[in-house]
Amino acid sequence: MQGEHGAAIAGLPTYADVARAAERLAGAAHRTPVLTSRTADAMTGAKLFFKAENLQRAGAFKFRGAYNAISALPEAARTRGVITFSSGNHAQAIALASRLLGAPATIIMPEDAPAAKIAGTRGYGAEVVLYDRYGQDREALGRAIAEPRGLTLIPPFNHPDVIAGQGTLAQELIETAGPLDVLVVCLGGGGMLAGCALAAAELSPGCRVIGVEPETGNDGQRSFRDGRIVTIPVPRTIADGAQSTALGALTFGIIRERVSDIVTVTDAQLAETMRFFASRMKIVVEPTGCLAAAAVLHGQVDVRDKRVGVVISGGNVDLATFARLTAGTA
Ligand SMILES: *Cc1c(COP(=O)(O)O)cnc(C)c1O
Repeated sequence: MQGEHGAAIAGLPTYADVARAAERLAGAAHRTPVLTSRTADAMTGAKLFFKAENLQRAGAFKFRGAYNAISALPEAARTRGVITFSSGNHAQAIALASRLLGAPATIIMPEDAPAAKIAGTRGYGAEVVLYDRYGQDREALGRAIAEPRGLTLIPPFNHPDVIAGQGTLAQELIETAGPLDVLVVCLGGGGMLAGCALAAAELSPGCRVIGVEPETGNDGQRSFRDGRIVTIPVPRTIADGAQSTALGALTFGIIRERVSDIVTVTDAQLAETMRFFASRMKIVVEPTGCLAAAAVLHGQVDVRDKRVGVVISGGNVDLATFARLTAGTA
């Protein structure tokens, strides 16, 4: 889909798609709170506005994109059902959204996904198929299941309605907090970063949008700097929601135009940020959900004297893992 000379890609969503998604999501998604912390402001010299998507339905922002994408399907396709592959939060989001919208859901998940995420997905009534993420081609497996049943594939990030749905979180954040100088977003495959960048460009012109990846999984940073999609092996990181190996053509198409920079943080910085959220702000945040905040709290982004939006993207973490990481013994 990528044009040979980086030409515009047909089918890229725009802010109008984010606005339409916000209408579809009204009354279905939570309008999550925007939290502030004097301690965090004092540590950074900034005014920080944390968008608490750990408190979103199914525990992460992914409900937005999933619900928007399934809502947009023609009724016949919705009735046949949807299928997806995901390391967890997109799976739970598709499972819940499909139940709410009356679409059967099949979810292909890695067998080493956190137990809470597998159980949560089954609990929402979806059919779960497990695969080996280091050996098996999940997309081929998905096609083999989807084709005979006529299921619609809803991928975790590289889909216009998913991107537009995720962008609604930035729209709400800017509506609540007012114009921002910087918006810092956790980055896996780039659905959230791309959608948020569309919303920020429209609603807070001039806002710098920064993506944050795990240091071991910096394919997005390399892609951004090289001007082409770089693919890496599955990264080992505690940020299990950001173990994607490459940006998508759609997400990269938006990110390269609208994002100012992509920075990285270490697993140790993520664990320290989990401790900060638990002890100071009294909230449970999963490792991946700490990416943006870790970059801000550890000085990877220039925020001094600025108004800064920070996405807390999810809160789904096994309590045993939460206890281990927040105890600081990991
Ligand atoms: C999926 C996910 C991300 C990354 O989102 P992308 O749209 O793939 O970039 C970040 N945080 C959490 C909690 C997630 O579930």
